[in-house]
Amino acid sequence: MISTVPTPLVPSLVPDLPADWKARYEAIHNIGVICVIFKLRRSVSPHFWVNISEPDLEIPGIIEFTNLRPLGEDTIVYVPYYMPVTHEKFSWPDDVLLKEAFACAQRVNPALEESDIRGTKVARLRYGQPICEPGFAAKIPAVQTPIAGLQIADTCFYYPEDRGIAESVRLGSSMANALGVASPSADRSQPSVAELAVS
Ligand SMILES: Cc1cc2nc3c(=O)[nH]c(=O)nc-3n(C[C@H](O)[C@H](O)[C@H](O)COP(=O)(O)OP(=O)(O)OC[C@H]3O[C@@H](n4cnc5c(N)ncnc54)[C@H](O)[C@@H]3O)c2cc1C
Repeated sequence: MISTVPTPLVPSLVPDLPADWKARYEAIHNIGVICVIFKLRRSVSPHFWVNISEPDLEIPGIIEFTNLRPLGEDTIVYVPYYMPVTHEKFSWPDDVLLKEAFACAQRVNPALEESDIRGTKVARLRYGQPICEPGFAAKIPAVQTPIAGLQIADTCFYYPEDRGIAESVRLGSSMANALGVASPSADRSQPSVAELAVS
């Protein structure tokens, strides 16, 4: 069995784990993220990724996904609000977040009008980004748990790589290989993180 849910959830999902193992999963902290997503008739900019560092603009940037991968006539844009889940903004209602994010998008492209909005979605993730403080590598438990046949990992297990789809697929493939399941997509040219971490 393989678990790739965020590791802070593991102690309650696997109560039979030894206490010191549960403590190691609980010691891995994350910040949350709210993704405010718009489907628009009009592009915000020609760029995929625009970082924003303006004191009066409350967003870290605008990612226009369809500038990387076009999806027809409309454009898909998201604003990632990374923050601790205890931050008061994490509890803001969706409509307030949408209003703030769209006003910022209009500052980037003053031609944008509310009538350009074709759809919206606000998604909240409590475990959006692991916090990797100094010495983090020593905190990561082995992928193979003391329970025979149970492997556990999440995005922080391939530290010092940052979270990413490619690294997650690579680690997931090597976990599957450790179970004896063939994975044609796995890159076998180098030892994987999981092979190094499985004890
Ligand atoms: C805003 C944002 C932007 C990103 N941009 C990029 C990018 O441009 N490029 C890139 O490569 N990576 C990017 N990433 C990182 C990428 O999304 C992650 O690295 C990748 O999704 C990790 O895959 P995963 O399967 O390990 O975890 P996830 O995709 O997070 O999957 C974990 C799954 O566990 C499920 N789950 C949670 N709790 C339970 C439970 N109790 N029981 C059962 N299931 C549960 C969740 O629903 C989820 O489906 C981004 C991440 C964020 C948050």
